[in-house]
Amino acid sequence: MSDTIIPASSQDDLVDELRTWLSENWDPDLTVEQWWQLLGLAGWSAPGLPTHAYGKALSRNDSVRVQNEISAFGALGAPGGLGLLLAAPTVATHGTQEQIDLYVREIVTGAKAWCQLFSEPGAGSDLAGLTCKADLDGDQWTINGQKVWTSFGSVADLGMLIARTDPEQPKHQGITWFAMDMHQSQVDVRPLVEMTGHALFNEVFLSDAHVGNDAIIGGRGNGWAVANTTLMHERSGLGSGGGSAGGGAATPGTIGGCLNKRAGDFAPAPKKPVSKEPVPKEAGSEKKRSSGGSSGGASASPLGGGGAKLMIDLAKGNGTIQDPTIRQDLMKLHTLGELGKFNNLRLKAAKKAGQDIPGFGNLSKLAMSDIMRLTRDIGLRIIGPAGMLHAYRDEDRAANDEATGNPFGQMVTSIALWAQAPPIYGGTDQIQKNIIGERVLGLPKEPGDTKGVPFSELPKNA
Ligand SMILES: Cc1cc2nc3c(=O)[nH]c(=O)nc-3n(C[C@H](O)[C@H](O)[C@H](O)COP(=O)(O)OP(=O)(O)OC[C@H]3O[C@@H](n4cnc5c(N)ncnc54)[C@H](O)[C@@H]3O)c2cc1C
Repeated sequence: MSDTIIPASSQDDLVDELRTWLSENWDPDLTVEQWWQLLGLAGWSAPGLPTHAYGKALSRNDSVRVQNEISAFGALGAPGGLGLLLAAPTVATHGTQEQIDLYVREIVTGAKAWCQLFSEPGAGSDLAGLTCKADLDGDQWTINGQKVWTSFGSVADLGMLIARTDPEQPKHQGITWFAMDMHQSQVDVRPLVEMTGHALFNEVFLSDAHVGNDAIIGGRGNGWAVANTTLMHERSGLGSGGGSAGGGAATPGTIGGCLNKRAGDFAPAPKKPVSKEPVPKEAGSEKKRSSGGSSGGASASPLGGGGAKLMIDLAKGNGTIQDPTIRQDLMKLHTLGELGKFNNLRLKAAKKAGQDIPGFGNLSKLAMSDIMRLTRDIGLRIIGPAGMLHAYRDEDRAANDEATGNPFGQMVTSIALWAQAPPIYGGTDQIQKNIIGERVLGLPKEPGDTKGVPFSELPKNA
C-alpha cells in the first residue's frame, strides 16, 4: 500500500498537520475523483483506520475532528456511505493486506461505493437465520437468495454479502462474508420508496450471481464473526452521528455520477465566525440534511449533533420557547446530546487506559433513537399544524414553503418522518437491549438453545 501515510503524532498537532496539508493540497478545480484520491491516500478520508489500511489510527473523537476541520476549511469531505462506515473497517480488521490494498483503497479514494447485503425478508433481527446460499464451483461461488432493506443498493459497485456456505453447520456457523461485485445481470436491484418520499433502500434478488473465492473476507465459514465487526461499526458509528463516515455532498462510486465533476462544486463554504444574529438565519445554516440518513447515509443523524440548538432556535423564532413544556423538553434534548458527548469522552479515556466500555455501541445507538424520537416530537410541537404538510418531491418544496410561510417546516417534517428509521436499522432497539442484557449484564439467554443443531435441521425462523 501507499507508504505516504504517517500516523498523526499527537492530538495537539493534529489540526495543524491537517490544515497544513489542506493548504498545500485542496484545489476546488480538481475533479472529485482527483481530490478523493489525494485525501484518501494521505490517510485523511478514514483516519480512524489503522495505518496499514489507509488510516492514521486516530480515535473516533479525533476522526470526527478531522471531518469537521476539513469542512470548516471549505474543502470537500471524505467519500461518505457504507463503504467508509462499514466495509472499510471490516476489511481492515479481517482482510488480508492484498484485500485491504484492493477494497479499502477504492473506498477511501471514493472510487467504489458499497451496500450492505445482510437483511433478508425472513432474517432481520434474527440475522443468523439467513437463507441466501452460496455454492462453490471451482474457485467461484454461485449465489441465490433475496436481500431486502439494502440502503444505496442502486448506486453500489460492491456489496457486503453474507450467505450460507454450509447449511449442515449450526446456525451461526457456515456463514461467509463476501465482497460481491454488484455489476452483474444476475443481481437485480429494485428500489423501494419509503414514507419520506425517498427510495433509500432496495430489494436485491440474487439469481445465480457469482463471487470469487478470493473475495471471501475473514475466511470461509467465519462470516458471523466478520458480520459482527460490520454491525459493531454500524452501531457505534451511527450512534455517534456517523463517525468517520462523515462525507461530503458528492456520491462515491462509478454509478453516483460525481467522480468527474468539479470538487469545489460540492465543497461547503469555509466556516465563518459564529453569528449572533437571531433565529431563522442561524437555523437556516443547518438546514441541509442527508436525505437518507441511515444505515449508511453520509451522516446517520440529520441533526449532526446540533439538534437541540436547531430546535431551540426554531422555538425562539416563532415564540413557542415561551411554552414551559417545550422548554422542558428542549432541556431534555440538550441534556441527552451532552450525555452523548460525555460518554464519548469516557470511552476515549477508557481506550487510552487500554480498557473498553462493554455495550458502548449498543447504548449509543439506543440513545440516538431516543434523541431522534424526542426531536421529532418537539419539532412537530414547535411548528404546529404546518407539520402535517410535507413535500415529497423537491419541486413541491417552494409551494409548501409558501403555503406554510415557514421555510424550516420541511426540515422538521423530514426529521419526523425519518425518526422511525434509526430505532430499526443496525439492529432494533429491542435487539440492542437484548444484547446489553445478555452480553453486558449477564442475564440468561432466551430459552430454546439451538446451539450445535445443523441449520438444515432447524425449524424455519428458529
Ligand atoms: C432505514 C433502514 C435502512 C436499512 N438498511 C439496511 C441495509 O443497508 N442493509 C441491510 O442488510 N439491512 C438494512 N436495514 C434492515 C435492518 O437491519 C432490519 O430492518 C432490522 O434488523 C430489523 O429486521 P426486520 O425489519 O426483519 O424486523 P424483525 O426482525 O421482523 O422485527 C420485528 C419486530 O420484532 C422485534 N423483535 C424481533 N426479534 C426480537 C427479539 N428476539 N426480542 C425482542 N424483540 C424482537 C423487533 O425489535 C421489531 O420491533 C435497514 C433498515 C432500515 C429501517
